[in-house]
Amino acid sequence: MLRAGLIRRLSSGLYTFLPLGLRALQKVERIVREEMDRAGALEILMPALHPQEIWERTGRFEVLKDVMFKIRDRQERGLVGPTHEEIVTDLVSHEVSSYRQLPMNLYQIQSKFRDEIRPRFGLMRAKEFIMKDAYSFDVGWDEAEASYRVMYETYRRIFRRCGLRTKIVEADTGAMGGSSSHEFMVLADSGEDGLVECTACSYAANLERAESKAGEAPVFDGAERTPEEVATPNLRTVQEVAAFFKSPPARLMKTLIYVADEKPVAVVVPGDRDVNEIKLRRSLSAAALALADDATIEKVTGAPVGFAGPVGLKIPVYADARVKGYRGAVTGANRKDAHLANVDLARDASVAEYVDVTFARDGDACPRCGAALQGKRGIEVGHVFKLGTKYSEQLGALYLDAEGKQHPAVMGCYGIGVTRTLQAVIEQRFDKDGIIWPLSVAPYSVEVLVVNAQHEESMAISLRLVEELERGGVDVLFDDRDERPGVKFKDADLLGLPLRVSVGERSLAKGGIEVRFRHSGEVRMAPVAEAAARIREWMGEVGAQLEEGS
Ligand code: ATP
Ligand code: MG
Repeated sequence: MLRAGLIRRLSSGLYTFLPLGLRALQKVERIVREEMDRAGALEILMPALHPQEIWERTGRFEVLKDVMFKIRDRQERGLVGPTHEEIVTDLVSHEVSSYRQLPMNLYQIQSKFRDEIRPRFGLMRAKEFIMKDAYSFDVGWDEAEASYRVMYETYRRIFRRCGLRTKIVEADTGAMGGSSSHEFMVLADSGEDGLVECTACSYAANLERAESKAGEAPVFDGAERTPEEVATPNLRTVQEVAAFFKSPPARLMKTLIYVADEKPVAVVVPGDRDVNEIKLRRSLSAAALALADDATIEKVTGAPVGFAGPVGLKIPVYADARVKGYRGAVTGANRKDAHLANVDLARDASVAEYVDVTFARDGDACPRCGAALQGKRGIEVGHVFKLGTKYSEQLGALYLDAEGKQHPAVMGCYGIGVTRTLQAVIEQRFDKDGIIWPLSVAPYSVEVLVVNAQHEESMAISLRLVEELERGGVDVLFDDRDERPGVKFKDADLLGLPLRVSVGERSLAKGGIEVRFRHSGEVRMAPVAEAAARIREWMGEVGAQLEEGS
């Protein structure tokens, strides 16, 4: 995007849109608007700055405080604005009083400001970015479900029209809360999100949430013997201990001490897997969860960090379903410089509960059908949530039903990263020469390139063609720069508009102009007199190709 002159970086996570970038962005916005309007949503525009106090009312000031830019006005009143659930719910609490006013879906396309820990990948994770956010309000749960389905389908249409292939995955609801959510992922190796999809059924989920079925527990050597303490001086990591026991890392039962809502708990997982803290927090129904500090670990295990194990612990032990039935395993001895071998988890330790708290991974069994899961990477371009009544209850978005009884509205919320979507389009459509824009969001549909700007006839024909195309409603970029043809052709490929029309002495001598399709490289000739008509016809072909390809 930088090379093609679409954007410029001001500083980390802050970008200027140059003319070509802005045109593409506006085309994405237009698609989003058209589809949201078609779905019956109403566009509004809310302020980007909100009094901090409203965020304190829902408790989300605390939840989101790290990601919020916090500013103070001259009266020292705090202002923030990372997203708009609170603001729109407050609005609706004042505007809606009767079931007759529902359902209602309000959306906006607006700049969001977030103090991201790692702004990176250009527009993908910026400090200021454009989001389309929508919020639905319904009288009941079934109605809210219907609104959710409409948005889900609308998102599919939006991304398809942008020329994107998306994968829809089950997602964690995170700081938003609510009962369930789906993310729209653009598959790309550069994506920040990990996900798994089933090779047989339709199951797909973000790694933050993905489940997988545990297989048969392996039985290792020493399964028949009783636990034996082995001196392991200074061996703390799974790799070190596994190497010492000449065993695969999976034979180790890794034991981590967490503090969940101020109570220490032990979590046991296979040595070759990592704890998924999002799943763990859910499993324990904990509001706050963090790894214990060194002092707490020493206190609850009686040993310094690196030697924890489930045998003999006095705190609740949660074991991942994958270590259930583990026999002949190795684990920390809760004593400095010592491990236990020949451990049978069920026999030697007391497990409070078996839970699914590790990350699913490539080759694991699908939780629905048992077939193999496949790991992928993706870019989250959209996210839809069922929120329920959390915000409407807290902020008083209540309505009266036909009998005059008061109820909280049932909500959903729906976000699209508009600027991120634009970049994702490019992430999915490029070759070594540059961008391959889909017709729908290309900054211009057609580039007319005059090969030699000094050649009068070429110039005259080009100008007439540009005029005729524009009169017919085609948006045209005219490259009449006095540059070498090589430079202009290279730039045309880099910018990647769907059709490149070159007007030069050589092709004119052959009786026409040359039209090149960026996506296929195909070149066609058109007689000068019919050029505009042919180009319009071929644009239709390029548009249809977009539909098929997505
Ligand atoms: P992420 O997990 O990527 O931080 P999020 O869960 O914070 O995303 P939401 O609050 O659901 O995102 O925002 C809706 C959409 O806005 C996201 O799906 C994403 O496309 C986009 N988005 C979120 N944060 C950024 C950012 N820092 N820069 C650009 N786009 C973003
Ligand atoms: Mg975020």
